[in-house]
Amino acid sequence: MQSGTITALSSTRPVTPSASIPSASDSAATILHDVFGYGAFRDAQGEIVDHLIGGGDALVLMPTGGGKSLCYQVPAIARHRAGRGVALVVSPLIALMHDQVGALEEAGVHAAFLNSTLSFDETQTIEREMMSGRLVLLYVAPERLSTPRMLAQLDSLNERGLLSLFAIDEAHCVSQWGHDFREDYLSLNVLHERYPQVPRIALTATADDLTRADIIERLALSDARVFISSFDRPNIRYAVVEKDDARRQLLRFIHDEHDGDAGIVYCQSRKKVDDTAAWLCTEGVNALPYHAGLDAALRRRHQDRFLRDEGVVMVATIAFGMGIDKPDVRFVAHMDLPKNIESYYQETGRAGRDGLPADAWMAYGLADVVNQRRMIDESPAAEEFKRGQRGKLDALLSLAEAHDCRRVRLLAYFGEASSPCAPHQHACDNCLNPPATWDATEAARKALSCIYRFHQNGGQRFGAVHLIDVLRGKMTEKVTQNGHASLSTFGIGVDIGDAQWRVVLRQLIALGFVQTEGEYNTLELTASAREVLRGEVQLLLREPSAKRSKAAAKTSRGKAKPPPVPLDAAGLARFAALKSWRGLVAREHNLPAYVVFNDATLAEMAQEAPETLDDLSDISGVGAKKLEAYGRELLRVLGGG
Ligand code: ADP
Ligand code: ZN
Repeated sequence: MQSGTITALSSTRPVTPSASIPSASDSAATILHDVFGYGAFRDAQGEIVDHLIGGGDALVLMPTGGGKSLCYQVPAIARHRAGRGVALVVSPLIALMHDQVGALEEAGVHAAFLNSTLSFDETQTIEREMMSGRLVLLYVAPERLSTPRMLAQLDSLNERGLLSLFAIDEAHCVSQWGHDFREDYLSLNVLHERYPQVPRIALTATADDLTRADIIERLALSDARVFISSFDRPNIRYAVVEKDDARRQLLRFIHDEHDGDAGIVYCQSRKKVDDTAAWLCTEGVNALPYHAGLDAALRRRHQDRFLRDEGVVMVATIAFGMGIDKPDVRFVAHMDLPKNIESYYQETGRAGRDGLPADAWMAYGLADVVNQRRMIDESPAAEEFKRGQRGKLDALLSLAEAHDCRRVRLLAYFGEASSPCAPHQHACDNCLNPPATWDATEAARKALSCIYRFHQNGGQRFGAVHLIDVLRGKMTEKVTQNGHASLSTFGIGVDIGDAQWRVVLRQLIALGFVQTEGEYNTLELTASAREVLRGEVQLLLREPSAKRSKAAAKTSRGKAKPPPVPLDAAGLARFAALKSWRGLVAREHNLPAYVVFNDATLAEMAQEAPETLDDLSDISGVGAKKLEAYGRELLRVLGGG
């Protein structure tokens, strides 16, 4: 398939503008089943779809992988079948439109995109399809929508009643609060002004109140019905490990749990991206780098390989990821602490969109706390803004330091009450393996009073290394120089090892009792340190997890990775055969493999081993068009032929 050209016109029907909208719910359920091959709507999907088919506006807040696309695709098809013409989908990422359109065509839905990658001829063909009202869905970049040419075309469609709906994907791009802000999104309110009768749906996975209010205001959605889904991602396991040798820890994690899986590894700097990717490659991992410093063509090539090939690990800065809707990303790893919980949630959310088990893994240590704090301190922003950033960082740090359920904390941050991981959820590390805690109140008081003594003794400040040396009573050069052997706190902490002191210190910084200052990260007490010194707060800290994680690693090492659903030997063989068949088809169609069928669908086929077309059509994800196109082939593959 060539980009943008229309190959499948099978679902188009003659345009009959007079036809009335069919009964919303049964037509929607039929479309869901026949076109997409799914048995039921998920959560609010059904309600949203009905609301749109009925002509209402909607704002949809749904987590990544929740199934936002169907919320506008099903109404677009229903309204098109009722003679309402074309749905416009505004999406900021032109690089992905090709695959989104490809997926619809695979399902037999007449769709296309308009963006700067098309030739003049291709653009003309698509514009003709649009103007005739034959097209069901048209994806456009926001900057194109407000051009005079496009608006004139939309005017003409609107006059003929052929604008079925507007979908504004990644709607948080309209908010200046987020880092995804796009100027072009601001002009999207033109849609409401010019075409007030056309239903609109705005969708986002960004959950906070500020962003929500911004979307409603800037897109003139005050009359829209707001649908807020639970932001829980039950198939994601959240885990935080203490940084020890982070690269080795990452490699062990990939080897033990995700050998051959697709994943994303986030690093803070470009250099670290390059180094980590190169190192993983020498260790036999199929890794590629991605950051804004690589030239556009190379970036594009790496993104394509990530989307199309199986099992690529993308090592990237946060420049990578928005709109990446590859459903079978099995893990997202953070080598550095993200800025705040919003970023953490958005980045980890790219794992497991297909609903199969996936991991959000983060390595975290003292340096992360110090670096993130320093980045805020040294930024040129106004003090008020910095205060906000510090508050957000604190929330993330307490998530990282938590010894209780991480899912509960994560959801609580977004204002959602929940209980610790239940059996239908992929339990977080703390629920799976409750960490031991120890009463660190006394140790904390020792450390804090030692910092206080430094200050009393000449007003100087020192860093963590020296503090620990003094606590442990080491006669270093610096100790001698500063006469610190005579401090009352010298040697009061010999009973605790260096590593554990670092953990105590990290947690004191994370919890805001100590702050670091300047180039050398010298330590200083905060106002709240007094409460600890006076014995008013008890500090329960996580036991250092080094021993536990080694033990845990041992049990999982060497074990084969479980398939997406439990399969016996014959099932596994069918799964492998289906995957290799899918690879061939995907290459032939120049589409990512998951567009043909996703892993969940293949796994269900391998498990059920259908022998007839009828049985095959019962598998979730097998719609009428795919059944017709691939059914016989699949039965042959399943039959071992
Ligand atoms: P989002 O855009 O919200 O991240 P997608 O629209 O990409 O999510 O959907 C995520 C995955 O869930 C896709 O593979 C999609 O086909 C699947 N999906 C969505 N809705 C349903 C449903 N009702 N039944 C089964 N699978 C669904
Ligand atoms: Zn939990």
